Amino acid sequence: MKSVQPKGSHFIDGAYVDDTAGREISCVYAATGETVATLHAATPAIVEAAIASAERAQKEWAALAPVARGRVLRRVADLLVERNAELSELESIDTGKPIQETLVADATSGAEALEYYAGLAATLTGETVPLGGDFVYTIREPLGVCLGIGAWNYPTQIAAWKAAPALACGNAMVFKPSEVTPLCALKLAELFIEAGAPAGLFNVVNGYGDAAASMVTDPRIAKVSLTGSVPTGQKVYAAAAEGLRHVTMELGGKSPLIIFEDADLENAISAAINANFYSTGQICSNGTRVFVHENIVEDFIERLVERSRTAILGDPLDPDTQIGPMITDAQRKKVLDYIRIGQEEGAELILGGHAPEGPGFFIEPTIFRNVTDEMTIAREEIFGPVLSILTFKDEDEVVARANDTQFGLAAGLFTKDFTRAHRVVAQLQAGTCWINEYNLTPVEAPFGGVKMSGVGRENSKAAIEHYSQVKSVYVAMGDVEAAF
Ligand code: NDP
Repeated sequence: MKSVQPKGSHFIDGAYVDDTAGREISCVYAATGETVATLHAATPAIVEAAIASAERAQKEWAALAPVARGRVLRRVADLLVERNAELSELESIDTGKPIQETLVADATSGAEALEYYAGLAATLTGETVPLGGDFVYTIREPLGVCLGIGAWNYPTQIAAWKAAPALACGNAMVFKPSEVTPLCALKLAELFIEAGAPAGLFNVVNGYGDAAASMVTDPRIAKVSLTGSVPTGQKVYAAAAEGLRHVTMELGGKSPLIIFEDADLENAISAAINANFYSTGQICSNGTRVFVHENIVEDFIERLVERSRTAILGDPLDPDTQIGPMITDAQRKKVLDYIRIGQEEGAELILGGHAPEGPGFFIEPTIFRNVTDEMTIAREEIFGPVLSILTFKDEDEVVARANDTQFGLAAGLFTKDFTRAHRVVAQLQAGTCWINEYNLTPVEAPFGGVKMSGVGRENSKAAIEHYSQVKSVYVAMGDVEAAF
């Protein structure tokens, strides 16, 4: 494995920096277990440098004409596209995701977010409110320094999805990647400098949860945007509330994918595969509860299993590989535990369920049938390649069961009956729904959860509301009246 050791553990004020007093972070290639880079977690001095430099850069950045800000974001987007091959390789090494996925879903997705917000930057204006003589105008202002905290499944995409709207609005960002994928955001920070952003506008601080926790309560942090699990989200939301900071919480899910009797079966199966096995199942919006109408369930299962058997597990850097390893051995153990619990609680394992012999943190694509609503594997987020099939008889029943969860990130359905599709979507408690598709998240559309799956929205014009604030300015045109 070629060296991917970065020039420093953090990227602050336009340059790589390190503080070897920080605890070691080993960056492990999940396909072999070999350590490919060693970094040091942020010390208080690193955190201080990052926030102070972001504070300086934010003032300079916010003073630029919006079109000039947009131009920088656009250049970063172009660089991401130009360097896609090398960035995708790094993403595959950082996460273990197959190169055939990373080439189309990571730097490219980040580039789309930057391109989108580059275009939007110069259109962000206030409004004028006539009052019959006097009037009010509003100014859309940046919040200040925003803190981004990322999960490990999409390190480039998460960093870009947070940075693009934040910076378009005139904010600066300090980004804390997950400690298990510390490499990709550093590259993004390099590209911001290459594209002409002021030093400090996008700083990356690597470290464990405690480094992020210390920044969440720093008085100079105006907003916290977290992608992570529900328990972490609850902690970070509570800590941010102390200073009444703005928050965006993109958290976990246990989303339903409903296959009605009239669905196009091959398309529905393709969606179920994508919704459970893409990125080895490590996707927050995955449709892990697959509700299939009882009249088609046997045909559905036969074809699903037949197709899933052909999945190619292997080295993520091999272009033929379709399924890579889990991110860490700990995550693999967690998923294997869920598979064991599923069997103990009476679900029928019909494919996979094992960790193949040999190096790396692999798990076979796993399918359970005869899953019922109260089983642990139908209630808890597994975050691995485990697909559960539940059956249903009628529409009202499946809607009620689909909504019977603490989560509300996403939902999908397959039917040829468009009246039913829209009727059902209207009743589903989820932030994002797909009709006859699954897991497509274009930057033009809002993305985020309801219930325990989160607060706020990423992407689209909706994210602007979460990275800016509105100032009202009352303008009097006449004399001031007073009682005495
Ligand atoms: P975690 O919740 O464990 O961690 C998320 C991030 O928060 C990490 O960078 C972590 O640092 C940091 N963190 C941990 N504790 C604290 C704390 N007390 N204060 C501040 N920051 C803290 O999530 P995972 O990385 O395990 O990612 C998997 C989860 O992310 C899944 O539940 C998944 O559903 C969710 N997710 C949601 C998405 C969405 O858009 N809704 C998208 C992708 C994933 P460290 O890693 O160093 O502990």
